Amino acid sequence: PRSTLDRSSAASDVYKRQDYVYNLNLTISESQIRKCVERLARLIQADYKGEPLLVVGALNGSFVFLADLIRHLHLPIQVDFIKVSSYDAALKSSGDVRLHHGVRTPVAQKNILVVEDIVDTGFTADFIRKYFENEGAASVRICTLLDKPSRRLTSVTAEYVGFEVPDQFLVGYGLDYNQQYRELRAIYSLEGVVDSGGRVTEEI
Ligand code: 5GP
Ligand code: MG
Repeated sequence: PRSTLDRSSAASDVYKRQDYVYNLNLTISESQIRKCVERLARLIQADYKGEPLLVVGALNGSFVFLADLIRHLHLPIQVDFIKVSSYDAALKSSGDVRLHHGVRTPVAQKNILVVEDIVDTGFTADFIRKYFENEGAASVRICTLLDKPSRRLTSVTAEYVGFEVPDQFLVGYGLDYNQQYRELRAIYSLEGVVDSGGRVTEEI
């Protein structure tokens, strides 16, 4: 049966959910993302010049970005994932980063490209970079779709940055709020959560 929900365009990304109504503002469109991913892939390809690369996605938020990025990379790549957590609550970052699982692929002597959805305080990126350096990687670089430099609490910088964004909570294109909205094709700022009567139940 044909779905009444057409999710094929950014405009119809936003649809009514049963649990609550919310305020989402389009921040970065699908076409802006596509151009950005192509630009980043060109930069990465030019830098690695045909050398083998281990692309490591930082779960969960990077999976959509990584899937698009690797399909523009004409390099001999391997892909693996790492899961760390720096969040004790849904939205607040803490310096307490824990490794949930590392990569299975051997990393010694390899060029590692860490793919992140967003670098916020930088605790996560800093932890992952040091982790791979300690594991004997030949080189470690970070590619992040989004960068919130105003929130940085570490000295970490990403070698490849898609968009610099202001201090807003963003969802879509892999980024979640409470594991929701990852499937949205564009990126939206989440202003708050309201109930069906329009009462704000959560300020973000
Ligand atoms: P950091 O360790 O740099 O503070 O945080 C990195 C992680 O925090 C990201 O991988 C992401 O999961 C989460 N995060 C930071 N800012 C945002 C945001 O605006 N939206 C979402 N959905 N997650 C964010
Ligand atoms: Mg997250």
